[in-house]
Amino acid sequence: MICQEDIFMFSLQRIEQAILREEFVPYYQPQVNVLQQKIVGVEALVRWQHPELGLLAPLFFLPFAETTGVISEIDGLVLKKACQDIHELHRLGFGMSVAVNLSASHFNHKYLPRMIAEVLEETGIDPCSLVLELTEGVMIHDVQQAVRVMREVQELGVKIYLDDFGRGYSNLFWLLHFPFNGVKVDRCFIQSSTMDAKNYEVLLSILDLSRRLNLEVILEGVETEQQLQFCGQQGYGVAQGYLFSYPLTIIGLEKRFWLERLQEGLLVA
Ligand code: C2E
Ligand code: MG
Ligand code: MG
Ligand code: MG
Repeated sequence: MICQEDIFMFSLQRIEQAILREEFVPYYQPQVNVLQQKIVGVEALVRWQHPELGLLAPLFFLPFAETTGVISEIDGLVLKKACQDIHELHRLGFGMSVAVNLSASHFNHKYLPRMIAEVLEETGIDPCSLVLELTEGVMIHDVQQAVRVMREVQELGVKIYLDDFGRGYSNLFWLLHFPFNGVKVDRCFIQSSTMDAKNYEVLLSILDLSRRLNLEVILEGVETEQQLQFCGQQGYGVAQGYLFSYPLTIIGLEKRFWLERLQEGLLVA
């Protein structure tokens, strides 16, 4: 059994070795257009395929990777692999966007737009298919510089979303100061909206605010039919959660698409 304290068992050297051995891999969680019941995007979520411990979720290594700075290498790897994988699916005729999580620390650095441009060129993916999700957690030292970096990335055609929106005290500050294309509403709102009237009002206000600011919206953590109905009622198009799918390997994702195509009657079984 792996417990949370094991996070600190890994040395920096072991993580660097894992990077070289390509033990970090993206899993993909579908994002579904609620009205069409169709997968329109996926989020890449990193996993560590540890040879002894098995498949490790980010909780077990990301905090350490973030404090040591090695997160930038992991993010770079995931970004490149995700763009390669999804470009391959595009070639098979499966259209979708791919969202990649980036630690906020990247936005402190001028290298980011160039790194993204290189990945786009190397993998051949259409920039409009790529979304970067910025997770708060690391301070942005220089707001103006970060805004410049974001705009340069957006000029490449890539979108930037604020992840876990509504959680943490600084989220409204982020929306005010940074040019996001969209938000991912934190799962705590949708998950308690059906139970608590106060929470429901907060969720409605978040959706209203996003609409007023012309932000695209994805609702995270949809686990029940009731929560799905809520998305439909609010006219909110895209949702993500265990109700539709757990994060999948690239092979699992491809199978999902073939199945979808089969159900649409485009293939003869
Ligand atoms: P996130 O970006 O907010 O990703 C969503 C998390 O919620 C994922 O956890 C996903 O597996 C989980 N999830 C999805 N649907 C549901 C649901 O219906 N119910 C519940 N309870 N959970 C759901 P995961 O994969 O453990 O990732 C945790 C966090 O680690 C991510 O949160 C993200 O902030 C970070 N992360 C993941 N991959 C990367 C990466 O490549 N780079 C960086 N910098 N951070 C990453
Ligand atoms: Mg995310
Ligand atoms: Mg997050
Ligand atoms: Mg999130």
